[in-house]
Amino acid sequence: MPFDVLLAGAQVIDPAQSLNQLADVGITGGRIAQVGPNLDTAGCPDVRDVAGKYVCPGLIDLHGHWYEGNLYGVDPLICLTHGVTTAVDAGSTGYANFPEFRRTVLDRCLTDILAFVHISFMGLHAPYAEELVDLRYARPEETAAVIAKHPDRAVGVKLRIGAMTANHGLAALDQALAAARGARVPLMVHVSRGAEESEILRCLRPGDILTHCFHGRGNRMISESILPEALEARRRGVIFDVGHGCGSFSWDTARKAFEQHFYPDTISTDLHRYSAPEPLCVSLPQVMSQMLCLGMSLEDVILKTTAVPARVLHREQQIGTLAPGTQADVLVFDLESGDFSFADTHLKVRQGNRRIVPHLAIKAGQVHNPGSIPIKLRDLYESDMEVFRAIG
Ligand SMILES: [Zn+2]
Repeated sequence: MPFDVLLAGAQVIDPAQSLNQLADVGITGGRIAQVGPNLDTAGCPDVRDVAGKYVCPGLIDLHGHWYEGNLYGVDPLICLTHGVTTAVDAGSTGYANFPEFRRTVLDRCLTDILAFVHISFMGLHAPYAEELVDLRYARPEETAAVIAKHPDRAVGVKLRIGAMTANHGLAALDQALAAARGARVPLMVHVSRGAEESEILRCLRPGDILTHCFHGRGNRMISESILPEALEARRRGVIFDVGHGCGSFSWDTARKAFEQHFYPDTISTDLHRYSAPEPLCVSLPQVMSQMLCLGMSLEDVILKTTAVPARVLHREQQIGTLAPGTQADVLVFDLESGDFSFADTHLKVRQGNRRIVPHLAIKAGQVHNPGSIPIKLRDLYESDMEVFRAIG
């Protein structure tokens, strides 16, 4: 049977299969049909010569915000412009508005969107309105119930802890863990300045996720040494996620971590209304390029944006690999050489000499040109300016 699409002659990197070689990728019926050298082009209506480029599984972004019903959300179509074929919403909605989020966004998007459901009933609101200002907003039973009802889309529970989110730290953590246990899903915890990192880490279970691991605002977990609780959590199987965002990635913190061989498990954007535009223009290829800048290998960077997040989501049989029979989610990219400047969320700039630039994004066998997808961000309000002024 001829292929529907054939990607010919690229360097194919699929860490899930320990594959890094020149090969062709054949796609049939929205699935990966075959990967190997010199595949048969006969009868294939769409043969793409991608010699000189790289091919990897479609990227998985474990942390973004895709609900425009609050001030953080961005149209998830933007994912395809970055080569992201599965994106996970990190708690933009709670149990009360998740069903509407599903109906109006998740079920209508070209990219697959999964979601962590916030322990607070309505999820996130606005930067000046803490979602857990009142602990009564935390609803473990309802949260677990809505996740159980939507197992194909709802993949976990989300909680933010830090001085700027709410001061209910460990009490809120108890509630969020109760919801996660009830629904048998992972918990994703955002930590920022003011969070009691060692106590939080002691509570996390294998498969739970600590996001913003390299935030540079009073990060006590990573300094000249790594907090013993973090090392112990990693041994247990807790996942450490980047979650770059507009206030959660510091070159200095990441460098200290890397010097102590403490690398992230997953690389994610925390893309939202404030991190998507200038001055940061966060995208997954950009955050991946930042990791290259810090000395990670290209294979490792791809591993942590494909196979590892697929495993964290328990979807490694469907996505995050180019194994035959899996969904044909594929990224074709250029690895550009040159002098590139990358800013962290403190606007500290570091120079790099390689940059990942998406060329084609293929979702379930459909080929998209990343540059041709129009994205409109919502209009800004005066209150948004406070967030932009705080960057740096
Ligand atoms: Zn976030």
